[in-house]
Amino acid sequence: MSTSKPLSILVVEDSLADYRLVKEMLEECAGDNFVLHHAEQVSTAVPLLESAGVDIIILDLGLPDGNGLDTLVKVHALTPDTPIVVLSQVEDEAMAVKAVRMGAQDFLVKGHISGALLNRSLRYALERRQLEEHLHRLAHHDALTGLPNRKLFYDRLARAVAAARRHERPLALMLLDLNEFKQVNDTWGHQVGDELLRQVADRLSRCLRSTDCVARLGGDEFILYVSDLGDIQDTARIAAKLIESMGEPCVIGGNPYTIRCSLGIALHPEDGDDIEVLVREADAAMYAAKAASGGGSSYRFYSRELDAAAAKRRELEESLRRALAAGEFVVNYQPQIDLHSRRVVGMEALMRWHPTGGEIVQPGEFMSALEESGLIVDVGAWVLETACRQAENWRRDHSMSLKIAVNISPRQFRDPHLVARVTDALKVSGLEPGQLELELAESSLRDDETLALDVLRRLNALGVRIALDNYRGRAMSLRDLKGFPIHSIKLDRSIVRDMADNPEDAAIVQAVISVAHVFRMKGVAEGVETQGQVDLLRSHACDDAQGFAFSRPLSAEAFDELLCRSPGGAYMH
Ligand code: C2E
Ligand code: MG
Repeated sequence: MSTSKPLSILVVEDSLADYRLVKEMLEECAGDNFVLHHAEQVSTAVPLLESAGVDIIILDLGLPDGNGLDTLVKVHALTPDTPIVVLSQVEDEAMAVKAVRMGAQDFLVKGHISGALLNRSLRYALERRQLEEHLHRLAHHDALTGLPNRKLFYDRLARAVAAARRHERPLALMLLDLNEFKQVNDTWGHQVGDELLRQVADRLSRCLRSTDCVARLGGDEFILYVSDLGDIQDTARIAAKLIESMGEPCVIGGNPYTIRCSLGIALHPEDGDDIEVLVREADAAMYAAKAASGGGSSYRFYSRELDAAAAKRRELEESLRRALAAGEFVVNYQPQIDLHSRRVVGMEALMRWHPTGGEIVQPGEFMSALEESGLIVDVGAWVLETACRQAENWRRDHSMSLKIAVNISPRQFRDPHLVARVTDALKVSGLEPGQLELELAESSLRDDETLALDVLRRLNALGVRIALDNYRGRAMSLRDLKGFPIHSIKLDRSIVRDMADNPEDAAIVQAVISVAHVFRMKGVAEGVETQGQVDLLRSHACDDAQGFAFSRPLSAEAFDELLCRSPGGAYMH
Protein backbone atom coordinates (compact mmCIF):
# COMPACT_ATOMS: atom_id res chain seq x y z
CA MET A 1 0.00 0.00 0.00
CA SER A 2 1.45 3.31 -0.96
CA THR A 3 -0.49 5.82 1.13
CA SER A 4 1.77 8.24 2.99
CA LYS A 5 -0.38 8.37 6.14
CA PRO A 6 -0.57 4.93 7.79
CA LEU A 7 -3.87 3.29 6.99
CA SER A 8 -6.15 2.70 9.95
CA ILE A 9 -7.67 -0.77 9.55
CA LEU A 10 -10.26 -2.31 11.83
CA VAL A 11 -10.54 -6.09 11.78
CA VAL A 12 -13.79 -7.34 13.29
CA GLU A 13 -13.12 -11.02 13.76
CA ASP A 14 -13.97 -13.35 16.66
CA SER A 15 -11.39 -15.96 15.77
CA LEU A 16 -8.03 -14.89 17.15
CA ALA A 17 -6.24 -17.27 14.75
CA ASP A 18 -7.91 -15.68 11.73
CA TYR A 19 -7.10 -12.20 13.06
CA ARG A 20 -3.42 -13.12 13.44
CA LEU A 21 -3.36 -14.51 9.95
CA VAL A 22 -4.70 -11.24 8.52
CA LYS A 23 -2.20 -9.29 10.61
CA GLU A 24 0.75 -11.36 9.35
CA MET A 25 -0.34 -11.02 5.76
CA LEU A 26 -0.67 -7.25 6.09
CA GLU A 27 2.77 -6.99 7.70
CA GLU A 28 4.20 -9.07 4.92
CA CYS A 29 3.05 -6.81 2.12
CA ALA A 30 2.34 -3.43 3.72
CA GLY A 31 5.25 -3.22 6.16
CA ASP A 32 4.41 -0.76 8.90
CA ASN A 33 2.28 1.42 6.69
CA PHE A 34 -0.87 0.65 8.63
CA VAL A 35 -2.33 0.74 12.11
CA LEU A 36 -4.41 -2.25 13.02
CA HIS A 37 -7.35 -2.29 15.42
CA HIS A 38 -9.10 -5.43 16.50
CA ALA A 39 -12.61 -6.03 17.75
CA GLU A 40 -14.07 -9.46 18.43
CA GLN A 41 -17.67 -8.49 17.86
CA VAL A 42 -19.85 -5.62 16.64
CA SER A 43 -20.47 -4.23 20.12
CA THR A 44 -16.74 -3.78 20.82
CA ALA A 45 -16.17 -2.38 17.33
CA VAL A 46 -18.51 0.55 18.01
CA PRO A 47 -16.25 2.56 20.35
CA LEU A 48 -13.29 1.95 18.03
CA LEU A 49 -15.23 3.20 15.05
CA GLU A 50 -16.03 6.34 16.96
CA SER A 51 -12.51 7.02 18.24
CA ALA A 52 -9.91 5.49 15.96
CA GLY A 53 -10.58 7.29 12.64
CA VAL A 54 -10.92 3.97 10.82
CA ASP A 55 -10.18 4.08 7.05
CA ILE A 56 -11.36 0.59 6.18
CA ILE A 57 -13.04 -2.37 7.88
CA ILE A 58 -12.38 -6.06 7.40
CA LEU A 59 -15.53 -7.72 8.65
CA ASP A 60 -16.14 -11.38 9.47
CA LEU A 61 -19.74 -12.25 8.69
CA GLY A 62 -19.87 -15.00 11.32
CA LEU A 63 -19.67 -13.01 14.56
CA PRO A 64 -21.20 -14.08 17.87
CA ASP A 65 -23.38 -10.94 18.13
CA GLY A 66 -24.19 -10.72 14.46
CA ASN A 67 -26.20 -12.77 12.10
CA GLY A 68 -24.56 -13.00 8.66
CA LEU A 69 -25.69 -10.10 6.49
CA ASP A 70 -27.29 -8.49 9.47
CA THR A 71 -23.75 -7.81 10.76
CA LEU A 72 -22.91 -5.95 7.57
CA VAL A 73 -26.09 -3.88 7.75
CA LYS A 74 -25.30 -2.90 11.34
CA VAL A 75 -21.69 -1.91 10.71
CA HIS A 76 -22.59 -0.10 7.50
CA ALA A 77 -25.27 1.84 9.35
CA LEU A 78 -22.76 2.79 12.04
CA THR A 79 -20.29 4.20 9.54
CA PRO A 80 -21.78 4.52 6.07
CA ASP A 81 -18.74 6.23 4.59
CA THR A 82 -16.13 3.64 5.57
CA PRO A 83 -15.44 0.91 2.99
CA ILE A 84 -15.98 -2.67 4.18
CA VAL A 85 -14.33 -5.85 2.93
CA VAL A 86 -16.14 -8.94 4.22
CA LEU A 87 -14.56 -12.24 5.22
CA SER A 88 -16.57 -15.39 4.75
CA GLN A 89 -16.26 -19.15 5.09
CA VAL A 90 -16.17 -21.15 1.86
CA GLU A 91 -19.71 -22.38 2.43
CA ASP A 92 -20.93 -18.76 2.86
CA GLU A 93 -19.60 -17.48 -0.43
CA ALA A 94 -23.09 -16.86 -1.80
CA MET A 95 -23.84 -14.67 1.20
CA ALA A 96 -20.59 -12.75 0.63
CA VAL A 97 -21.67 -11.96 -2.93
CA LYS A 98 -24.94 -10.63 -1.56
CA ALA A 99 -22.95 -8.53 0.92
CA VAL A 100 -21.19 -6.79 -1.94
CA ARG A 101 -24.55 -6.01 -3.50
CA MET A 102 -25.61 -4.50 -0.20
CA GLY A 103 -22.70 -2.10 -0.01
CA ALA A 104 -19.55 -4.02 0.94
CA GLN A 105 -16.68 -3.16 -1.37
CA ASP A 106 -15.32 -6.69 -1.73
CA PHE A 107 -15.27 -10.14 -0.14
CA LEU A 108 -12.50 -12.59 0.72
CA VAL A 109 -12.94 -16.27 1.41
CA LYS A 110 -11.09 -17.61 4.43
CA GLY A 111 -8.42 -20.14 3.54
CA HIS A 112 -8.14 -18.63 0.06
CA ILE A 113 -6.46 -15.39 1.00
CA SER A 114 -2.89 -14.46 0.26
CA GLY A 115 -1.05 -11.33 1.33
CA ALA A 116 -1.11 -10.02 -2.23
CA LEU A 117 -4.84 -10.74 -2.59
CA LEU A 118 -5.65 -9.01 0.70
CA ASN A 119 -3.48 -6.04 -0.21
CA ARG A 120 -5.12 -5.66 -3.62
CA SER A 121 -8.60 -6.04 -2.20
CA LEU A 122 -8.04 -3.32 0.40
CA ARG A 123 -6.47 -0.98 -2.13
CA TYR A 124 -9.28 -1.43 -4.62
CA ALA A 125 -11.86 -0.99 -1.88
CA LEU A 126 -10.35 2.33 -0.91
CA GLU A 127 -9.94 3.52 -4.48
CA ARG A 128 -13.49 2.56 -5.36
CA ARG A 129 -14.79 4.37 -2.32
CA GLN A 130 -12.84 7.50 -3.24
CA LEU A 131 -14.19 7.32 -6.77
CA GLU A 132 -17.71 6.91 -5.44
CA GLU A 133 -17.20 9.89 -3.16
CA HIS A 134 -15.85 11.93 -6.04
CA LEU A 135 -18.82 11.06 -8.24
CA HIS A 136 -21.14 11.77 -5.35
CA ARG A 137 -19.50 15.18 -4.89
CA LEU A 138 -19.80 15.95 -8.57
CA ALA A 139 -23.45 14.97 -8.64
CA HIS A 140 -24.35 16.87 -5.48
CA HIS A 141 -22.17 19.94 -5.44
CA ASP A 142 -21.82 23.14 -7.34
CA ALA A 143 -18.67 22.94 -9.45
CA LEU A 144 -17.82 26.62 -8.98
CA THR A 145 -18.13 27.08 -5.23
CA GLY A 146 -18.01 23.49 -3.95
CA LEU A 147 -21.23 24.15 -2.02
CA PRO A 148 -24.05 21.57 -2.08
CA ASN A 149 -26.20 21.92 -5.18
CA ARG A 150 -29.94 22.42 -5.29
CA LYS A 151 -30.80 18.72 -5.07
CA LEU A 152 -28.58 17.94 -2.10
CA PHE A 153 -29.73 21.10 -0.36
CA TYR A 154 -33.38 20.22 -0.79
CA ASP A 155 -32.74 16.67 0.52
CA ARG A 156 -31.05 18.07 3.59
CA LEU A 157 -33.69 20.74 4.02
CA ALA A 158 -36.46 18.11 3.93
CA ARG A 159 -34.68 16.22 6.71
CA ALA A 160 -34.06 19.39 8.70
CA VAL A 161 -37.71 20.43 8.43
CA ALA A 162 -38.81 16.95 9.56
CA ALA A 163 -36.45 17.18 12.55
CA ALA A 164 -37.66 20.72 13.33
CA ARG A 165 -41.22 19.39 13.36
CA ARG A 166 -40.28 16.48 15.63
CA HIS A 167 -38.33 18.55 18.12
CA GLU A 168 -40.60 21.57 17.82
CA ARG A 169 -37.63 23.83 17.22
CA PRO A 170 -37.91 26.69 14.69
CA LEU A 171 -36.02 26.67 11.43
CA ALA A 172 -35.22 29.67 9.22
CA LEU A 173 -34.96 29.45 5.47
CA MET A 174 -33.06 32.28 3.84
CA LEU A 175 -32.47 33.39 0.27
CA LEU A 176 -29.56 35.66 -0.45
CA ASP A 177 -28.97 37.52 -3.66
CA LEU A 178 -26.06 39.75 -4.55
CA ASN A 179 -27.10 43.22 -5.65
CA GLU A 180 -25.88 44.20 -9.08
CA PHE A 181 -23.80 41.07 -9.59
CA LYS A 182 -24.53 41.15 -13.31
CA GLN A 183 -22.72 44.46 -13.50
CA VAL A 184 -19.62 42.89 -11.95
CA ASN A 185 -19.63 40.18 -14.59
CA ASP A 186 -20.31 42.65 -17.39
CA THR A 187 -17.76 45.18 -16.24
CA TRP A 188 -14.92 43.06 -14.90
CA GLY A 189 -15.42 39.77 -16.66
CA HIS A 190 -16.48 36.29 -15.61
CA GLN A 191 -13.24 35.39 -13.90
CA VAL A 192 -13.69 38.16 -11.37
CA GLY A 193 -17.40 37.27 -11.07
CA ASP A 194 -16.58 33.62 -10.42
CA GLU A 195 -13.95 34.42 -7.83
CA LEU A 196 -16.38 36.79 -6.12
CA LEU A 197 -18.96 33.99 -5.91
CA ARG A 198 -16.37 31.64 -4.44
CA GLN A 199 -15.42 34.15 -1.78
CA VAL A 200 -19.07 34.84 -0.96
CA ALA A 201 -19.69 31.08 -0.64
CA ASP A 202 -16.75 30.81 1.69
CA ARG A 203 -17.91 33.67 3.88
CA LEU A 204 -21.43 32.29 4.13
CA SER A 205 -20.17 28.81 5.02
CA ARG A 206 -18.05 30.23 7.79
CA CYS A 207 -21.05 31.89 9.43
CA LEU A 208 -22.98 28.62 9.71
CA ARG A 209 -22.77 25.63 12.02
CA SER A 210 -22.19 22.14 10.64
CA THR A 211 -25.88 21.35 11.13
CA ASP A 212 -26.91 24.23 8.86
CA CYS A 213 -26.51 24.20 5.14
CA VAL A 214 -25.90 26.71 2.35
CA ALA A 215 -26.13 26.07 -1.38
CA ARG A 216 -25.86 28.05 -4.57
CA LEU A 217 -29.06 27.96 -6.55
CA GLY A 218 -27.35 29.28 -9.64
CA GLY A 219 -26.20 32.72 -10.74
CA ASP A 220 -25.69 34.93 -7.73
CA GLU A 221 -28.45 33.39 -5.63
CA PHE A 222 -27.73 31.43 -2.48
CA ILE A 223 -30.12 29.50 -0.29
CA LEU A 224 -29.51 28.42 3.28
CA TYR A 225 -31.26 27.12 6.33
CA VAL A 226 -30.48 27.50 9.98
CA SER A 227 -32.09 24.99 12.30
CA ASP A 228 -32.55 24.61 16.02
CA LEU A 229 -33.21 28.28 16.63
CA GLY A 230 -34.13 29.71 20.01
CA ASP A 231 -36.31 32.65 18.99
CA ILE A 232 -36.76 35.22 16.27
CA GLN A 233 -33.99 37.35 17.75
CA ASP A 234 -31.63 34.44 17.12
CA THR A 235 -32.59 34.50 13.46
CA ALA A 236 -32.15 38.25 13.23
CA ARG A 237 -28.71 37.92 14.80
CA ILE A 238 -27.69 35.30 12.25
CA ALA A 239 -29.05 37.39 9.38
CA ALA A 240 -27.08 40.39 10.65
CA LYS A 241 -23.98 38.21 10.94
CA LEU A 242 -24.37 36.95 7.37
CA ILE A 243 -24.69 40.49 6.09
CA GLU A 244 -21.79 41.65 8.21
CA SER A 245 -19.63 38.90 6.73
CA MET A 246 -20.03 40.65 3.36
CA GLY A 247 -18.92 43.97 4.85
CA GLU A 248 -15.27 43.78 3.87
CA PRO A 249 -14.68 44.13 0.13
CA CYS A 250 -13.51 40.99 -1.68
CA VAL A 251 -9.96 41.41 -2.92
CA ILE A 252 -9.45 39.85 -6.33
CA GLY A 253 -6.20 40.32 -8.23
CA GLY A 254 -5.28 43.06 -5.75
CA ASN A 255 -8.49 45.05 -6.44
CA PRO A 256 -11.24 45.48 -3.85
CA TYR A 257 -14.82 44.67 -4.85
CA THR A 258 -17.66 45.77 -2.61
CA ILE A 259 -20.40 43.20 -2.10
CA ARG A 260 -23.95 44.19 -1.31
CA CYS A 261 -26.62 41.62 -0.76
CA SER A 262 -30.31 41.22 0.04
CA LEU A 263 -31.52 38.53 2.36
CA GLY A 264 -35.09 37.25 2.66
CA ILE A 265 -36.17 35.07 5.58
CA ALA A 266 -39.12 32.69 6.05
CA LEU A 267 -39.64 30.84 9.32
CA HIS A 268 -40.83 27.31 9.98
CA PRO A 269 -43.41 26.75 11.40
CA GLU A 270 -44.79 30.36 11.61
CA ASP A 271 -44.75 31.09 7.89
CA GLY A 272 -45.48 27.58 6.68
CA ASP A 273 -44.70 23.90 6.88
CA ASP A 274 -44.18 23.20 3.22
CA ILE A 275 -40.73 23.66 1.71
CA GLU A 276 -41.93 25.14 -1.57
CA VAL A 277 -44.06 27.65 0.31
CA LEU A 278 -41.14 28.65 2.53
CA VAL A 279 -38.88 29.16 -0.48
CA ARG A 280 -41.49 31.33 -2.20
CA GLU A 281 -41.93 33.40 0.93
CA ALA A 282 -38.20 33.85 1.46
CA ASP A 283 -38.03 34.98 -2.17
CA ALA A 284 -40.75 37.59 -1.66
CA ALA A 285 -38.96 38.81 1.49
CA MET A 286 -35.65 38.98 -0.37
CA TYR A 287 -37.23 41.01 -3.10
CA ALA A 288 -38.74 43.39 -0.56
CA ALA A 289 -35.34 43.75 1.13
CA LYS A 290 -33.77 44.60 -2.20
CA ALA A 291 -36.43 47.11 -3.12
CA ALA A 292 -36.23 48.91 0.22
CA SER A 293 -32.48 48.94 0.59
CA GLY A 294 -31.63 51.53 -2.05
CA GLY A 295 -28.78 49.33 -3.23
CA GLY A 296 -27.22 48.62 0.19
CA SER A 297 -27.24 45.31 2.07
CA SER A 298 -30.28 44.43 4.12
CA TYR A 299 -32.49 41.58 5.32
CA ARG A 300 -36.19 41.23 5.70
CA PHE A 301 -38.55 38.73 7.29
CA TYR A 302 -41.47 37.42 5.29
CA SER A 303 -44.90 38.82 6.10
CA ARG A 304 -48.34 38.09 4.61
CA GLU A 305 -48.52 41.52 2.96
CA LEU A 306 -45.53 40.65 0.82
CA ASP A 307 -47.48 37.94 -1.03
CA ALA A 308 -49.84 40.37 -2.68
CA ALA A 309 -47.03 42.84 -3.35
CA ALA A 310 -44.85 40.14 -4.94
CA ALA A 311 -47.65 38.91 -7.20
CA LYS A 312 -48.42 42.46 -8.28
CA ARG A 313 -44.78 43.18 -8.98
CA ARG A 314 -44.39 40.05 -11.13
CA GLU A 315 -47.49 41.01 -13.08
CA LEU A 316 -46.29 44.59 -13.60
CA GLU A 317 -42.85 43.45 -14.75
CA GLU A 318 -44.44 41.07 -17.21
CA SER A 319 -46.69 43.81 -18.58
CA LEU A 320 -43.74 46.17 -18.93
CA ARG A 321 -41.75 43.53 -20.79
CA ARG A 322 -44.67 43.09 -23.17
CA ALA A 323 -45.08 46.87 -23.43
CA LEU A 324 -41.52 47.23 -24.66
CA ALA A 325 -42.01 44.52 -27.27
CA ALA A 326 -45.34 45.98 -28.37
CA GLY A 327 -44.00 49.54 -28.61
CA GLU A 328 -46.36 50.93 -25.98
CA PHE A 329 -43.89 53.42 -24.50
CA VAL A 330 -44.09 57.01 -25.70
CA VAL A 331 -41.99 60.07 -25.01
CA ASN A 332 -43.40 63.42 -23.92
CA TYR A 333 -41.44 66.64 -23.98
CA GLN A 334 -41.49 69.38 -21.37
CA PRO A 335 -40.15 72.75 -22.55
CA GLN A 336 -37.18 74.29 -20.75
CA ILE A 337 -37.13 78.07 -20.74
CA ASP A 338 -34.21 80.46 -20.58
CA LEU A 339 -35.30 82.85 -17.80
CA HIS A 340 -33.46 85.81 -19.33
CA SER A 341 -34.56 85.58 -22.96
CA ARG A 342 -37.84 83.90 -21.97
CA ARG A 343 -37.51 81.58 -24.91
CA VAL A 344 -37.75 77.81 -25.14
CA VAL A 345 -34.18 76.53 -25.28
CA GLY A 346 -34.76 72.86 -24.88
CA MET A 347 -36.98 70.10 -23.57
CA GLU A 348 -36.81 67.19 -21.18
CA ALA A 349 -37.82 63.81 -22.57
CA LEU A 350 -40.27 62.14 -20.16
CA MET A 351 -41.46 58.64 -20.71
CA ARG A 352 -45.08 57.51 -20.59
CA TRP A 353 -46.65 54.10 -20.98
CA HIS A 354 -49.71 53.94 -23.20
CA PRO A 355 -51.12 50.40 -23.00
CA THR A 356 -53.15 49.51 -26.11
CA GLY A 357 -56.75 50.51 -25.42
CA GLY A 358 -55.89 51.80 -21.94
CA GLU A 359 -55.13 55.03 -20.14
CA ILE A 360 -51.70 56.64 -20.20
CA VAL A 361 -49.59 55.59 -17.19
CA GLN A 362 -47.12 58.03 -15.56
CA PRO A 363 -43.55 56.98 -14.69
CA GLY A 364 -44.24 57.18 -10.96
CA GLU A 365 -46.24 53.99 -11.31
CA PHE A 366 -43.73 51.90 -13.23
CA MET A 367 -40.29 53.49 -12.96
CA SER A 368 -39.19 51.50 -9.92
CA ALA A 369 -40.32 48.22 -11.53
CA LEU A 370 -38.32 49.08 -14.65
CA GLU A 371 -35.32 49.97 -12.53
CA GLU A 372 -35.40 46.94 -10.25
CA SER A 373 -36.01 44.46 -13.04
CA GLY A 374 -33.25 46.00 -15.12
CA LEU A 375 -35.69 46.57 -17.99
CA ILE A 376 -34.85 50.27 -17.80
CA VAL A 377 -31.59 49.57 -19.63
CA ASP A 378 -33.42 48.57 -22.82
CA VAL A 379 -36.37 50.93 -22.41
CA GLY A 380 -33.97 53.79 -21.61
CA ALA A 381 -31.92 53.07 -24.73
CA TRP A 382 -35.12 53.31 -26.74
CA VAL A 383 -36.04 56.66 -25.09
CA LEU A 384 -32.55 57.97 -25.77
CA GLU A 385 -32.70 57.12 -29.44
CA THR A 386 -36.28 58.35 -29.88
CA ALA A 387 -35.54 61.65 -28.14
CA CYS A 388 -32.36 62.25 -30.18
CA ARG A 389 -34.17 61.56 -33.46
CA GLN A 390 -37.02 63.87 -32.44
CA ALA A 391 -34.67 66.70 -31.48
CA GLU A 392 -32.82 66.35 -34.77
CA ASN A 393 -36.13 66.42 -36.71
CA TRP A 394 -37.17 69.62 -34.92
CA ARG A 395 -33.78 71.17 -35.60
CA ARG A 396 -34.21 70.40 -39.30
CA ASP A 397 -37.90 71.36 -39.56
CA HIS A 398 -37.81 74.52 -37.45
CA SER A 399 -34.19 75.59 -37.89
CA MET A 400 -33.83 75.66 -34.12
CA SER A 401 -31.09 74.00 -32.11
CA LEU A 402 -32.97 72.88 -29.05
CA LYS A 403 -31.28 71.01 -26.26
CA ILE A 404 -32.78 67.61 -25.49
CA ALA A 405 -32.47 66.40 -21.89
CA VAL A 406 -32.76 62.64 -21.29
CA ASN A 407 -32.95 61.01 -17.86
CA ILE A 408 -30.42 58.28 -17.08
CA SER A 409 -31.34 56.19 -14.05
CA PRO A 410 -28.73 54.73 -11.65
CA ARG A 411 -29.15 51.33 -13.25
CA GLN A 412 -28.61 52.78 -16.72
CA PHE A 413 -25.62 54.69 -15.44
CA ARG A 414 -23.97 51.50 -14.23
CA ASP A 415 -24.68 49.75 -17.54
CA PRO A 416 -21.20 49.11 -18.99
CA HIS A 417 -22.59 49.80 -22.47
CA LEU A 418 -23.96 53.25 -21.61
CA VAL A 419 -21.29 55.18 -23.50
CA ALA A 420 -21.73 52.92 -26.53
CA ARG A 421 -25.50 53.38 -26.41
CA VAL A 422 -25.16 57.18 -26.32
CA THR A 423 -22.68 57.04 -29.21
CA ASP A 424 -25.15 54.92 -31.22
CA ALA A 425 -28.09 57.23 -30.49
CA LEU A 426 -26.08 60.23 -31.70
CA LYS A 427 -24.96 58.39 -34.78
CA VAL A 428 -28.34 57.07 -35.93
CA SER A 429 -30.09 60.40 -35.23
CA GLY A 430 -27.37 62.67 -36.59
CA LEU A 431 -27.84 64.95 -33.54
CA GLU A 432 -24.98 67.25 -32.54
CA PRO A 433 -23.53 65.84 -29.28
CA GLY A 434 -23.60 69.30 -27.65
CA GLN A 435 -27.40 69.32 -27.98
CA LEU A 436 -27.83 66.23 -25.84
CA GLU A 437 -27.90 66.58 -22.07
CA LEU A 438 -27.97 63.52 -19.83
CA GLU A 439 -29.67 63.97 -16.46
CA LEU A 440 -28.05 61.89 -13.74
CA ALA A 441 -29.14 61.15 -10.19
CA GLU A 442 -26.91 62.11 -7.30
CA SER A 443 -26.79 58.49 -6.13
CA SER A 444 -25.23 57.48 -9.45
CA LEU A 445 -22.24 59.67 -8.67
CA ARG A 446 -22.05 58.90 -4.98
CA ASP A 447 -22.19 55.09 -5.09
CA ASP A 448 -18.83 54.59 -6.70
CA GLU A 449 -17.10 57.86 -7.32
CA THR A 450 -14.17 56.39 -9.25
CA LEU A 451 -16.43 54.55 -11.65
CA ALA A 452 -18.69 57.61 -11.98
CA LEU A 453 -15.78 59.87 -12.82
CA ASP A 454 -14.57 57.44 -15.46
CA VAL A 455 -18.01 57.25 -17.11
CA LEU A 456 -18.46 61.04 -16.95
CA ARG A 457 -15.08 61.62 -18.59
CA ARG A 458 -15.95 59.25 -21.41
CA LEU A 459 -19.33 60.92 -21.91
CA ASN A 460 -17.65 64.31 -21.90
CA ALA A 461 -15.25 63.09 -24.53
CA LEU A 462 -18.28 62.46 -26.76
CA GLY A 463 -19.21 66.13 -26.37
CA VAL A 464 -22.55 65.59 -24.61
CA ARG A 465 -23.63 67.69 -21.64
CA ILE A 466 -24.26 66.38 -18.14
CA ALA A 467 -26.87 67.63 -15.70
CA LEU A 468 -27.27 66.66 -12.08
CA ASP A 469 -30.99 65.97 -11.58
CA ASN A 470 -33.14 66.59 -8.49
CA TYR A 471 -30.45 68.41 -6.51
CA ARG A 472 -31.53 69.03 -2.95
CA GLY A 473 -28.21 70.20 -1.57
CA ARG A 474 -28.24 67.57 1.18
CA ALA A 475 -26.40 64.38 0.23
CA MET A 476 -23.57 65.96 -1.74
CA SER A 477 -22.21 69.42 -1.24
CA LEU A 478 -21.35 71.60 -4.18
CA ARG A 479 -17.71 71.21 -3.21
CA ASP A 480 -18.04 67.41 -3.69
CA LEU A 481 -19.52 68.10 -7.10
CA LYS A 482 -16.69 70.34 -8.18
CA GLY A 483 -14.60 67.30 -9.11
CA PHE A 484 -17.20 66.03 -11.59
CA PRO A 485 -17.42 67.36 -15.13
CA ILE A 486 -21.03 68.58 -14.92
CA HIS A 487 -22.67 71.33 -16.98
CA SER A 488 -26.00 71.97 -15.21
CA ILE A 489 -27.50 71.54 -11.79
CA LYS A 490 -31.24 70.99 -11.64
CA LEU A 491 -32.76 72.25 -8.42
CA ASP A 492 -35.27 69.75 -7.10
CA ARG A 493 -38.96 70.52 -7.27
CA SER A 494 -39.29 70.34 -3.46
CA ILE A 495 -36.79 73.17 -2.92
CA VAL A 496 -38.38 75.32 -5.60
CA ARG A 497 -41.80 74.70 -4.07
CA ASP A 498 -40.71 75.63 -0.55
CA MET A 499 -38.31 78.48 -1.25
CA ALA A 500 -40.94 81.21 -0.82
CA ASP A 501 -41.82 80.03 2.72
CA ASN A 502 -38.68 78.30 3.90
CA PRO A 503 -35.62 80.52 4.34
CA GLU A 504 -33.33 77.46 4.36
CA ASP A 505 -34.56 76.41 0.91
CA ALA A 506 -34.33 79.97 -0.35
CA ALA A 507 -30.71 80.06 0.84
CA ILE A 508 -29.96 76.74 -0.90
CA VAL A 509 -31.44 78.04 -4.17
CA GLN A 510 -29.37 81.20 -3.98
CA ALA A 511 -26.16 79.37 -2.98
CA VAL A 512 -26.53 76.64 -5.58
CA ILE A 513 -27.04 79.10 -8.39
CA SER A 514 -24.16 81.37 -7.43
CA VAL A 515 -21.73 78.50 -6.76
CA ALA A 516 -22.83 76.79 -9.98
CA HIS A 517 -21.90 79.95 -11.85
CA VAL A 518 -18.46 79.98 -10.23
CA PHE A 519 -17.91 76.46 -11.56
CA ARG A 520 -19.33 77.50 -14.94
CA MET A 521 -22.40 75.35 -14.52
CA LYS A 522 -25.95 76.37 -15.28
CA GLY A 523 -28.58 76.52 -12.55
CA VAL A 524 -31.90 75.04 -13.72
CA ALA A 525 -35.10 75.07 -11.67
CA GLU A 526 -37.57 72.19 -11.86
CA GLY A 527 -41.25 72.08 -11.01
CA VAL A 528 -41.81 75.83 -11.31
CA GLU A 529 -45.54 76.28 -10.89
CA THR A 530 -46.24 79.94 -10.11
CA GLN A 531 -45.35 83.36 -11.43
CA GLY A 532 -44.04 84.18 -7.94
CA GLN A 533 -41.49 81.36 -8.23
CA VAL A 534 -40.52 82.53 -11.72
CA ASP A 535 -39.84 86.03 -10.40
CA LEU A 536 -37.90 84.80 -7.38
CA LEU A 537 -35.73 82.52 -9.51
CA ARG A 538 -35.06 85.34 -11.91
CA SER A 539 -33.96 87.55 -9.02
CA HIS A 540 -31.51 84.81 -7.98
CA ALA A 541 -30.09 84.75 -11.53
CA CYS A 542 -31.32 81.25 -12.18
CA ASP A 543 -30.53 80.37 -15.82
CA ASP A 544 -33.26 78.01 -17.01
CA ALA A 545 -36.53 76.66 -15.67
CA GLN A 546 -39.22 74.15 -16.43
CA GLY A 547 -42.57 73.51 -14.85
CA PHE A 548 -46.32 73.83 -15.13
CA ALA A 549 -45.95 77.63 -14.97
CA PHE A 550 -44.66 77.38 -18.55
CA SER A 551 -46.01 74.11 -19.84
CA ARG A 552 -46.85 70.59 -18.84
CA PRO A 553 -44.98 67.78 -20.62
CA LEU A 554 -46.40 67.62 -24.17
CA SER A 555 -46.81 64.89 -26.73
CA ALA A 556 -44.42 65.16 -29.70
CA GLU A 557 -47.29 66.51 -31.84
CA ALA A 558 -48.29 69.14 -29.27
CA PHE A 559 -44.67 70.23 -28.86
CA ASP A 560 -44.38 70.50 -32.63
CA GLU A 561 -47.45 72.75 -32.72
CA LEU A 562 -45.88 74.95 -30.06
CA LEU A 563 -42.80 75.37 -32.21
CA CYS A 564 -44.93 76.09 -35.31
CA ARG A 565 -46.85 78.78 -33.44
CA SER A 566 -43.66 80.59 -32.51
CA PRO A 567 -41.14 80.45 -35.33
CA GLY A 568 -37.62 81.33 -34.25
CA GLY A 569 -38.24 80.16 -30.69
CA ALA A 570 -41.34 79.90 -28.57
CA TYR A 571 -41.58 82.79 -26.15
CA MET A 572 -43.05 82.26 -22.68
CA HIS A 573 -43.70 84.64 -19.78
P1 C2E B 1 -37.62 64.06 -13.20
O1 C2E B 1 -36.47 63.80 -14.05
O2 C2E B 1 -37.40 64.85 -11.96
O3 C2E B 1 -38.71 64.75 -14.10
C1 C2E B 1 -39.46 65.82 -13.73
C2 C2E B 1 -40.82 65.39 -13.25
O4 C2E B 1 -41.52 66.49 -12.74
C3 C2E B 1 -41.68 64.84 -14.38
O5 C2E B 1 -42.48 63.82 -13.83
C4 C2E B 1 -42.52 66.05 -14.75
O6 C2E B 1 -43.75 65.70 -15.37
C5 C2E B 1 -42.76 66.64 -13.40
N1 C2E B 1 -43.03 68.07 -13.46
C6 C2E B 1 -42.62 68.96 -14.37
N2 C2E B 1 -43.04 70.20 -14.05
C7 C2E B 1 -43.74 70.11 -12.90
C8 C2E B 1 -44.41 71.04 -12.06
O7 C2E B 1 -44.45 72.24 -12.30
N3 C2E B 1 -45.01 70.56 -10.95
C9 C2E B 1 -44.99 69.26 -10.64
N4 C2E B 1 -45.60 68.87 -9.53
N5 C2E B 1 -44.35 68.34 -11.41
C10 C2E B 1 -43.73 68.76 -12.52
P2 C2E B 1 -42.74 62.49 -14.59
O8 C2E B 1 -42.86 62.72 -16.03
O9 C2E B 1 -43.85 61.80 -13.88
O10 C2E B 1 -41.39 61.70 -14.35
C11 C2E B 1 -41.03 61.25 -13.09
C12 C2E B 1 -39.65 60.76 -13.07
O11 C2E B 1 -39.52 59.56 -13.83
C13 C2E B 1 -38.65 61.72 -13.69
O12 C2E B 1 -38.34 62.70 -12.74
C14 C2E B 1 -37.52 60.82 -14.03
O13 C2E B 1 -36.71 60.60 -12.91
C15 C2E B 1 -38.24 59.53 -14.36
N6 C2E B 1 -38.29 59.39 -15.82
C16 C2E B 1 -39.22 59.87 -16.69
N7 C2E B 1 -38.90 59.51 -17.94
C17 C2E B 1 -37.75 58.82 -17.87
C18 C2E B 1 -36.90 58.19 -18.84
O14 C2E B 1 -37.11 58.23 -20.04
N8 C2E B 1 -35.80 57.55 -18.37
C19 C2E B 1 -35.49 57.51 -17.06
N9 C2E B 1 -34.39 56.86 -16.67
N10 C2E B 1 -36.25 58.09 -16.12
C20 C2E B 1 -37.38 58.75 -16.53
MG1 MG C 1 -35.12 64.77 -15.00
